[in-house]
Amino acid sequence: MGKVIYRAWQLGAVFDAWDELFKYELWQKAFADTGLDIKFYAQRERAQDELLPWAHIDVGVSQEYIKAEYAKAITAEVTIDCREGPCNSCGLEKWDAGCGK
Ligand code: SF4
Repeated sequence: MGKVIYRAWQLGAVFDAWDELFKYELWQKAFADTGLDIKFYAQRERAQDELLPWAHIDVGVSQEYIKAEYAKAITAEVTIDCREGPCNSCGLEKWDAGCGK
């Protein structure tokens, strides 16, 4: 993906978070130029145990909780917001002693 990002920059992709400057066609060309399939990265279904590029970033919420929430989302099961109901043991209790009570 580094090659794609570099190629997109070479083609003029800058400040892409700004809608008025985002040019999808530059990214399509960057993928084509580097021989990578954009659908493989953006549209394929991923296995639950696939190591994701951002897996090393710990935001506190546990992977087990995220997977359980995904399963609930598939069946349209709702998790009550812990600000309005009981703690859901999302994992943040390891960082905040006030959580989980
Ligand atoms: S109370 Fe804290 S640990 Fe429990 S679900 Fe809410 S944020 Fe997560």
